[in-house]
Amino acid sequence: MYLEDDLLQLSGLQHLLYCSRQCALAYMELQWADNFFTAKGILMHDKAHSDKREVKNGVVIERDIYIKSYALGLVGKSDIVEFHKSGAQLIPFPVEYKSGKAKNDNTDKVQLCAQALCLEEMLKIEIPSGAIFYGKTKNRLNVEFDNALREETINLAKDFHNLIESGITPKAQASTKCNNCSFKELCLPELTSGKKSAKKYLQSIVTENNTEN
Ligand code: SF4
Repeated sequence: MYLEDDLLQLSGLQHLLYCSRQCALAYMELQWADNFFTAKGILMHDKAHSDKREVKNGVVIERDIYIKSYALGLVGKSDIVEFHKSGAQLIPFPVEYKSGKAKNDNTDKVQLCAQALCLEEMLKIEIPSGAIFYGKTKNRLNVEFDNALREETINLAKDFHNLIESGITPKAQASTKCNNCSFKELCLPELTSGKKSAKKYLQSIVTENNTEN
């Protein structure tokens, strides 16, 4: 069990799964960068958080819920938690808003599962599933919190703590992921991965600028 002071931002998990360097830049070095994708995501989150509570077709909808787990060592906010009636119980159903479309990796699912694990610990109730709403495609993807996803989420939370405790920002691993990365300007992957010398990197920038002008 982690202590209050050890809790890390739950949102860091998706960054870690995407790229450990991105995660370290954001959560260890506290450098933040917005690109079009993240700015759009923030706008969608603001919209999702506009009305705190409503009841629709018998479902209680709570927005912007503060969540935490001492077992995972995570703290954060849930965009929306729907409470569905099942017999005498209300079963929480977390819903996360994303600006883009469904991804091939588990980054969004892990973040949602971490929210569910926090809610389970706080409310002492099992949460079997949740959903991710994608703004670009306007579809809602149901996510089952099976054992494999739970295990992946728990292991990632441990890796997140290990990364922060190490105090070491990993070197860049330049890949196609870098093209859509909001940290590219801060990270300088071609330079910091060692694939290009500082001299060649600066020369390529000068050439690019001359071509644009
Ligand atoms: S630019 Fe590439 S290496 Fe750098 S943080 Fe982003 S994904 Fe990671």
